[in-house]
Amino acid sequence: MNRRAIVAANWKMNGSLALVNSMVSELNNVTLNENVEVVVCPSFPYLAAFSLASANANLVKAFSLGAQNLNEHAKGAFTGEISTSMLKEVGVNYVILGHSERRSIYNESSSLVAHKVKTALDAGLKPILCIGESEDERVAEQTETVLAAQLQPVIDEIGIERFTDVVIAYEPVWAIGTGKTASPEMAQATHQFIRKFIAKVDENIAVKLPLLYGGSVNATNCEELFAQADIDGGLIGGASLKADEFKIICSAAKG
Ligand code: PEP
Repeated sequence: MNRRAIVAANWKMNGSLALVNSMVSELNNVTLNENVEVVVCPSFPYLAAFSLASANANLVKAFSLGAQNLNEHAKGAFTGEISTSMLKEVGVNYVILGHSERRSIYNESSSLVAHKVKTALDAGLKPILCIGESEDERVAEQTETVLAAQLQPVIDEIGIERFTDVVIAYEPVWAIGTGKTASPEMAQATHQFIRKFIAKVDENIAVKLPLLYGGSVNATNCEELFAQADIDGGLIGGASLKADEFKIICSAAKG
C-alpha cells in the first residue's frame, strides 16, 4: 500500500532567524511527490517566526511545523519548560519525542517518553516517536529487544488505536550525527521488525504507520534509503540545515 511519507527536519540547537527566513523561501520552490509532507522542527524561539514566515510566503499545505520537545504538564512552576498549549498557539502540529539525545543527555526514560506521547496526543499534536539502539546493543544483537522495550511502554500508555496519529522514527544512535548511515538493507530489516511488532497488536494500524529512518541521511544516500519497502521518509538532522541538500532529500521521498 501507499503510505504517506514524511521528511522531518530536526534543527536541534542550531539555526537563526536568518535560517528561518531563507529556509521558508527555499522550501517554497521544492518539488514534492504526492503524499509527502515536510515537517520543520526548529528550536522553540524560532517556532513562531517560522509559522509567521510560512504564512506570509503562502508555503504550500504540505509543510508543517514541529517542536523538538514538550513538557508533560499543562502549566505551572516548571521554569524553562514549554507546554502543549504554547506550541499549539504558535502553529505547531508535530513534536519530536524520545530523541536519543533527550534519552541519553536528559535521562528521559521510556515511561516518561510514553507519557509525553500521551500528552501530545491529548493536545492534538502528532508525536514523532524516536527509537533506536546504541552501537554496543547492535553489536550484542540486542537491537530488537531494545526497540521492543522502547515501544511497549508507549503502546501500554496510549493504546494501539492512537497510533493512527503517531509517526515512528527509527534512529540507530550510532548513526546520528556520525556520518555512519545504516545500510539500506539493515535499515529495511529493522523497519520491518518494527512494523511487525506493531502488526502483532494491530495489523491495520501497522500497515498505515509512517516509519521514518534517521541517522546521517544526506543528499547522496536518501534515494536508496527511501526506496526501501518499509521506509516512509526520514528524520534529518545535520543535512536539514542546508537548504540545497534538504530540498534534494525532500524530493526523494515517495508516498
Ligand atoms: C537526528 O538528530 O535526528 C539526526 C538524524 O541527525 P543526523 O541526520 O545529523 O544524523
